[in-house]
Amino acid sequence: MSYEEISKSVVFAQNDWGSNSVCIALEKELYFIDTGLNTSRATKFRKAMETKFNRKASTLILTHGHVDHILAMNAYSDLEVVGAEIGKKRFERIAKVELTEEMIENMDKFFVGFRESAKEAKAFLPTKWVKDKITLGDNQEIIFNVVGGHSSCSSSIEYVPDGIIITGDLMQVDVYPYFGEPDTDVEKWINALKTWEEKDYKVVLPGHGKAVDIKYLRTVRIFFEQMLATTKELKKKDLPVEEVLKHPIYTDGYWPEDAIRKPAYDFSIKNLYNNL
Ligand SMILES: [Zn+2]
Repeated sequence: MSYEEISKSVVFAQNDWGSNSVCIALEKELYFIDTGLNTSRATKFRKAMETKFNRKASTLILTHGHVDHILAMNAYSDLEVVGAEIGKKRFERIAKVELTEEMIENMDKFFVGFRESAKEAKAFLPTKWVKDKITLGDNQEIIFNVVGGHSSCSSSIEYVPDGIIITGDLMQVDVYPYFGEPDTDVEKWINALKTWEEKDYKVVLPGHGKAVDIKYLRTVRIFFEQMLATTKELKKKDLPVEEVLKHPIYTDGYWPEDAIRKPAYDFSIKNLYNNL
């Protein structure tokens, strides 16, 4: 995990064991966004930030209820935890789950570091449920907005003073994105990207990968628009899904040439195609 100072008040922890995390230092308290998979790493990040800013953590915000973003939440068990109400069932499922050996083996194939993180993992439910939008902080510096798209509970966090948007998995940088959930909504996804583009944020902090700018976000939005339009055209021809997967629109995206096309990406395309 490497820590990057994005502004005087915002530190970005880029993580390869599950999602990235962010710390926002308000005048009297620290806010954290997403946890990654590993409780020890999350605890280390929290402690480093409490030392750096010389103030205590008060709140953890979750961008959505996917396991790679919340499994390390035990590092923040004494804080207020904010999540989107529409994801309640998904959060409950993860909080209740007992990690069997079979499950660990399975998850370890999808998530680097899962096995090492499972031992100390203890997820629980958010303490504050949000329906659509709230502002947080003494001076209302933080806006939490339920936008949907990647999952129905996908939410963004805006840090208003510095023009920073934290996107969760609506931005997955330099990788083939995952959009294969039953509640993924690509139209909503594109709308969220468009809204952020219009607001012209200074910095975009993604759920996975490095910090980027609005120019990069635009390439992601264009990819999703073209990919959706092409998939709709292919659907009209009623091609078998194996043929669909070979179309170049799915190969030439916004990611670098050496990015690895994993089965989860093809699963996403199949899901989108079958559900159109
Ligand atoms: Zn996700």
